[in-house]
Amino acid sequence: YLFSVTAIRGMDHNLSGIVLLLRDVTRLKEVEQLKSDFVMAASHELRTPLTSLGMSVDLLLEHASGTLAAKDQELLKAAHEEVHRMKALVNDLLDLSKIEAGRIEMEYEIIQVITLFDHVRTVFRHQLEMRPVELSVEIPDDLPRVRADANKITWVLTNLVSNALRYVGSDGHIQLKAHRIGPNVHLFVQDNGPGIPQEYQLKIFQKFVQVKGQETGGTGLGLAICKEIVRAHGGTIWVESSQGNGSTFTFTLPVNA
Ligand code: ADP
Repeated sequence: YLFSVTAIRGMDHNLSGIVLLLRDVTRLKEVEQLKSDFVMAASHELRTPLTSLGMSVDLLLEHASGTLAAKDQELLKAAHEEVHRMKALVNDLLDLSKIEAGRIEMEYEIIQVITLFDHVRTVFRHQLEMRPVELSVEIPDDLPRVRADANKITWVLTNLVSNALRYVGSDGHIQLKAHRIGPNVHLFVQDNGPGIPQEYQLKIFQKFVQVKGQETGGTGLGLAICKEIVRAHGGTIWVESSQGNGSTFTFTLPVNA
C-alpha cells in the first residue's frame, strides 16, 4: 500500500481533522512484474533464432557475394546490418530486464579505479589506432579503492566511451577521470562532442530515448542499463553538457570504507 496523511486545520489553525489516503498498488506491481517477465521471456526466445539467422546471413555474404548481382549484394548487406542491430537490441533488452528484476547477481570486490580505466583503454586500443581520437586518463595518486563489480562497471565505462567515440568528430578528445568526494568516488567520462540539449539531460537515461537528430543507430538502451548497474551499486549517474561544448557523464561508487 502507498499511503499519505494530510492534516486539516481550521481558520484558527487548530487541528480539525485528518485525511488518510490508502492506495492499493498490489495490482500495479503485478502488472509491472508481468511486463518485465514478458520482455525477459520474449528477448530470451528471440535470441536463438536471431543468432542462427545472423550466422546464415554472414555465411551467405561471405560465400555468395562474388556470384551475386550488385543489387542483391546490397540487399544482403542491408539484411546483415539489420539482423545484427536486432541482436544487439534483444541482448540489451534481456540484460536490462534481468537487472531490473534483480536477477543479475553483483559480484563485488574491492578494486582500484585505474584497473578499470586500463581495461577500458585496452578494449578501445584498436579503434583508437584507426581514428584521430585521443583517450586520456587522469587519476590522483591517493584515490581510495572502490567496492564494485568490476565486469559490470567496465560495461558502464565501455558503453560511455563507445557513445563518446560515436559523437566526437576529428580532433576528438575523451577523458577518463576520477576523484573522491566524501564517501564516494566520482568517475567521469568527458568528451568534446556535440553535447546534449538541456531538455534531454535527464531523459536520455530512460529506455529508448535518443536525442532527435543525433541518433547514431544505437538501441537507446545503453544509458538505461548504465543507470540500473550504477543504482545497484548504490550510486547515481548524470550528465552535464551544453550544446556544442561536449558532455561529461559522471557516476558515483562507494569508497571502500
Ligand atoms: P544509443 O547510444 O544506443 O542511442 P544510449 O542510451 O547509450 O543509446 O544513449 C541515448 C542517447 O543519448 C543517444 O542516442 C544520444 O542521442 C545521446 N548521447 C549519449 N551519449 C552521448 C554523447 N557522448 N554525446 C552526445 N550525445 C550522446
